This record gives sequence, C-alpha cells and structure tokens, in this order.
Amino acid sequence: MKVKLECVKGDITDQPDLDVIVNAANAELRTGGGVAGAIHRVAGPELEEACRPMAPIKPGQAVVSPAFNLPNRKVIHCLGPVYNIDKPSDQLLAECYKNSLLLADKEQLAAIGFPAISTGAFGYPLQEAAEVTADAIHSTLSQLSQVQLVRMVLFSDRDLNVFQKALGVV
Ligand code: ADP
Repeated sequence: MKVKLECVKGDITDQPDLDVIVNAANAELRTGGGVAGAIHRVAGPELEEACRPMAPIKPGQAVVSPAFNLPNRKVIHCLGPVYNIDKPSDQLLAECYKNSLLLADKEQLAAIGFPAISTGAFGYPLQEAAEVTADAIHSTLSQLSQVQLVRMVLFSDRDLNVFQKALGVV
C-alpha cells in the first residue's frame, strides 16, 4: 500500500488526527525545552511517570508510551543525536526515523507525526537534517504494512520549506 507523506507548519502537540506523535526526547525521557517540554506539558505528569522505567535511552533508540492528555493514542520517544557529538550523527538521526516508523507499524498505528528531530537544542543543521530525514523515511516505507500517513510537523515557514523540498512533497 502507498504511504502518504506530508509536511505541515504547526505544533506537534496539536495534531488530533494522528494516532501517534514522536517526541524529540532527552535520554532520561523527562520534560525539558522544545518539543519534549511541549509534549509533557500537554500530556500531563503521568507521562514522565510512565516513561521512567524505560529510561535512559540511547541516540537512535525509540520507545512507546500512552499519550495521556494529548489528542493521540501513543507517543513514541526518540533520542536524536547531538550534532557532531553523538557520531556518526547522520546514521543515528536516520535510525531515529527508521526505528520510530517500525515501532509505529508494530503497534498498528496508521498515522504518525514527527518534529524535526535534533534541529533545535541538539544543533543539527536544518538542510542536512532534512536530507537525512528524507532518505531515512523513503528507505523505510517499503517495510511498513500498517502506517499509511507520515506527517512532518515543522515549527516555522523556513523549516517547512526546507523539509518540503528535501522530501519532494508540497
Ligand atoms: P532536539 O533536542 O532534538 O534538537 P528540540 O525540541 O530542541 O529537539 O527541537 C527540535 C525541532 O522542533 C526544532 O526545529 C524546534 O524549532 C521544533 N519545535 C519546538 N517545539 C515544537 C513544537 N511544539 N511542535 C513542533 N516543532 C517544535
């Protein structure tokens, strides 16, 4: 089956039509700044509690939890690489997308949304991140049987533009 790929500008915590959203998590799976702060704030304190037994995670690893007060069924928490510190950064970033997609598929989740992992506090240059992301998503699609929609949720017009071009979608 053909998987639909799309890019939108928006907030990852406000995607009620998605079964699962991906958190740009920290190793401890705690709240924090950026995406993780927003997700934990909306989900509520139960999210940190549910995540505690799964922590710490390694760069590239993905784990799944309930979504609590978020309008989705599940949250996949993925630790992106800190650019040029966690190496090879491109392989680790690709693993994030691949592992998250395979985990969503295993959990029978049909619609998944990603933020631009590692491009905030972790310093990954946007253009490079978009290219790695596009390659990783495209090369994983053939292994999916349940996932039908993959949405990149970008926070600014500039980010949206770069990801649309890299993914070859409008
Ligand atoms: P990392 O630590 O993996 O770099 P961040 O959370 O710092 O993760 O940022 C990842 C990207 O997500 C950045 O481009 C940032 O602008 C964007 N971002 C921050 N908050 C949100 C949000 N609520 N929804 C979607 N994207 C967000």
